Amino acid sequence: MTSLNLKSFNTLSVEAVADQVEIVASEDDIIKLAQDHGSTRLLVLGEGSNVLLAPAVHRVVCLMRSRGIAVDEIGSRIKVTVSAGENWHQLVMWTLERGYYGLENLALIPGSAGAAPVQNIGAYGVELADVLSHVDVVDLERGGCETFTNAQCGFGYRDSLFKRTPGRYAITQVTLDLSKEPGVVAAYPDLQEEFEREGVIAPTPEQVAAAVTRVRQTKLPDPTLTPNAGSFFKNPVVTAHQAARLQQSFAQLKVYPTEAGVKLSAAQLIDWAGWKERNSHGVRVWPRQPLVLVNELGSSGADILQFAAAIQSDIADRYGVRLEIEPDVIGFS
Ligand SMILES: Cc1cc2nc3c(=O)[nH]c(=O)nc-3n(C[C@H](O)[C@H](O)[C@H](O)COP(=O)(O)OP(=O)(O)OC[C@H]3O[C@@H](n4cnc5c(N)ncnc54)[C@H](O)[C@@H]3O)c2cc1C
Repeated sequence: MTSLNLKSFNTLSVEAVADQVEIVASEDDIIKLAQDHGSTRLLVLGEGSNVLLAPAVHRVVCLMRSRGIAVDEIGSRIKVTVSAGENWHQLVMWTLERGYYGLENLALIPGSAGAAPVQNIGAYGVELADVLSHVDVVDLERGGCETFTNAQCGFGYRDSLFKRTPGRYAITQVTLDLSKEPGVVAAYPDLQEEFEREGVIAPTPEQVAAAVTRVRQTKLPDPTLTPNAGSFFKNPVVTAHQAARLQQSFAQLKVYPTEAGVKLSAAQLIDWAGWKERNSHGVRVWPRQPLVLVNELGSSGADILQFAAAIQSDIADRYGVRLEIEPDVIGFS
């Protein structure tokens, strides 16, 4: 394929003309593209739900569209190997229909299976790292295929080896370690509220997936109607000392102690700073979830980046906290 506008290939719906676009349907396809163009020219893209693209993307965009799911049953454990181009939510529903449990809390997350390890997708108390066995990749720099175990993926909060080495690897297959025995994770407050309202005491995995879907549909904008890339900022992690100092000034500050430090709610800080009332050319924060930026009037990637920078600078001034952008920002110099 020659140059193409990626507007309908990114959920923020920004205009972004790529030098060249190629469909990748197999491991051989991506190996050949790396040989023909060199790894630095390639941009591997799934469904474009976690990227912010510049108006011109001077790269060979490789749309990962390989399909296929294979199952290996070992007693009550199920290994599900899925090709990179499969849709994540459809995979979650496919596993649930067969009684393979573990993915229910990750229902309705947009995007492809191949991108799921990149930022270690997570929601409602579960992240991919909890259920991932291993990942098959093509090393675009060195050529050749490799397998990374869960530990070798270097997972963290919205982070992985793949996120830290952009452009190095194309993930071709993801293998999940699921179970036939339901092990429900339902402690997350939003889910608890749902189950209390419905009088459900011991939810099944199917009920968890349904509750997650309802909560997400209530809180998050549907990208097919209101362009967005999900959370635009990561929740900041600060030292215990910094969190305690902030709490002295802001008693209502939400704090979540983690192994890496104290996690704050970026949504709360953005809300307190008054950003729900502001917008620029149709770019604004989503009132029901201020972590999400929406692009209602077709603004450019540059406009969105400018709006995000204004939020970052305001939050840094008010709270001394640096907000990090979550989606991959691509093509800006
Ligand atoms: C409404 C909405 C809600 C969301 N909610 C959540 C949520 O709850 N939790 C969460 O974690 N995320 C969430 N996201 C973010 C997004 O859904 C995930 O990050 C998803 O995994 C991105 O998949 P994708 O195929 O669209 O990736 P893309 O946006 O196409 O790519 C994202 C990054 O991964 C790289 N990449 C893509 N495919 C591959 C591959 N096969 N091999 C190597 N690198 C690859 C790309 O180069 C890019 O750097 C949300 C997004 C939206 C729009």
